[in-house]
Amino acid sequence: MEETTTTTTTKRVLLFPFMAQGHLIPFSQLAHLISLRNNHSVTLVNTPSNILTLRSILPSSSTVRLSSLPFNPSDHGLPPGQESTDSLPFHLFFPLFLSTESLRPAFTRFVSDALSSDPTSPLSIIADPFLGWTVDVAKDLGVFHAFFLTSGAWGSAVFLSLWTHHPLPWSDSDDLALPNRPNVRLRRSQVTPLLLHGDDDDNPEFAFFHRQIAQFCKSDGVIVNTAEGFERSGVEFLKEESGGMPVWAVGPLLRVPSTPLSDDTHIGWLAGHPPASVLYVSFGSMNTISASQMVELAMGLEASGTAFVWVIRPPIGFDFKVGFREEWLPEGFEERMREQNRGVLIHGWAPQMEILSHASTGAFLSHCGWNSVLESLCNGVPIVGWPIAGEQFYNSTMMVEEIGVCVEIARGNGNESVVCREDVERIVRSVMMGGEGEEMRRKAREVGEVLRAAVGEGGASVRAMDDFLRTALSTMAGKD
Ligand code: UDP
Repeated sequence: MEETTTTTTTKRVLLFPFMAQGHLIPFSQLAHLISLRNNHSVTLVNTPSNILTLRSILPSSSTVRLSSLPFNPSDHGLPPGQESTDSLPFHLFFPLFLSTESLRPAFTRFVSDALSSDPTSPLSIIADPFLGWTVDVAKDLGVFHAFFLTSGAWGSAVFLSLWTHHPLPWSDSDDLALPNRPNVRLRRSQVTPLLLHGDDDDNPEFAFFHRQIAQFCKSDGVIVNTAEGFERSGVEFLKEESGGMPVWAVGPLLRVPSTPLSDDTHIGWLAGHPPASVLYVSFGSMNTISASQMVELAMGLEASGTAFVWVIRPPIGFDFKVGFREEWLPEGFEERMREQNRGVLIHGWAPQMEILSHASTGAFLSHCGWNSVLESLCNGVPIVGWPIAGEQFYNSTMMVEEIGVCVEIARGNGNESVVCREDVERIVRSVMMGGEGEEMRRKAREVGEVLRAAVGEGGASVRAMDDFLRTALSTMAGKD
């Protein structure tokens, strides 16, 4: 890639992700890619146990440095060593969010020490939008700052718009036209309960997110994990919503699948099925469905006759670490599916990238978390959407209405979504066995090509990354 400077000055980038698998993975990929650029010294900053996770995600050859900030989970009501949403029960997510603000003094010291140790070397900060206060640290120290959105452009823009224009002008019919985009209409079931019920700053959770969103437009720019050719209108909308800040679409940044693949028993099971015949079902790293939805999903899957791999977690209201109880599924379901070689339940963590890249996987029933969306489409796998929270609703709608690679099976915050076994059976059959599914798979393969080309040699996302680095590192540290 082209480098504009001819000096040998080391240019430094500090990256600070939020503590959740869906954020740590793309941040480490971004860090690794930047470190591959000439002379760039890259450091990922986080709390001690997340540093261990980041080390395990980064390729072993990576030169990215890892630096932990002092953090004591028990000061924030969190169990020892449990510093990410992946290890915490749902009711402790908010204490974790809130605890991130306590990292500000240590992060300020870290940046300021880095500046004084080498005042002539450019330095910039890339932070998670949930860590909005990092903008103030950067501004106080005269350092370039960008937010990295680990979600897509369209979903982020809608999410930003909802928070920025709060309180929302709901119509009597329970739907809403977005203030800046009256042609975009949302239902109540597509909006986080915080924006529906928690509408004042006396609610600490609402106030926290409000504080972070208010910082968004103060940054110097936005990096987003998407490709412009895939989300053209999303990137445009994001530019508008972020007040005209520069937006660099540098994705898709994905975790590299581990090798060898064949050692995994689930991959072995997949290999025994015909191409594109297996439905992969997963709700990501933090979400799950209710016990009654779980029964409807199981009955619908069984009736559909489709082979499936289902990553199953305890239902809403239960800690993910409790043992799985048979009573959460229809009687004898797991055993029946195993005996008929029809379905596999993965209790715990699945090798998702490996499953999605396997030729036997034909569709993904997903909560539409952004990493899952990109991982699926990069592999040409269409999506059966069941969005549950946050911007997942807008990811799903965009893929249904604009791209044609998704059909929605259910939608709603947590246990509010209504899903019945007949719908599951009908939709799964049409995606796995009908013409609709074939057409979605064709489109997904086309999108996969666009996404892969964007990060290939000379691709638009590679050029955007270089442009970002030139902009972010063109000024000396300590100057505007
Ligand atoms: N993931 C995985 N195995 C699992 C569940 C999740 O490898 O059993 C990975 C998945 O491949 C993706 C990330 O965790 O990279 C989840 O991110 P996403 O944005 O899809 O959803 P989130 O978990 O953030 O809601």
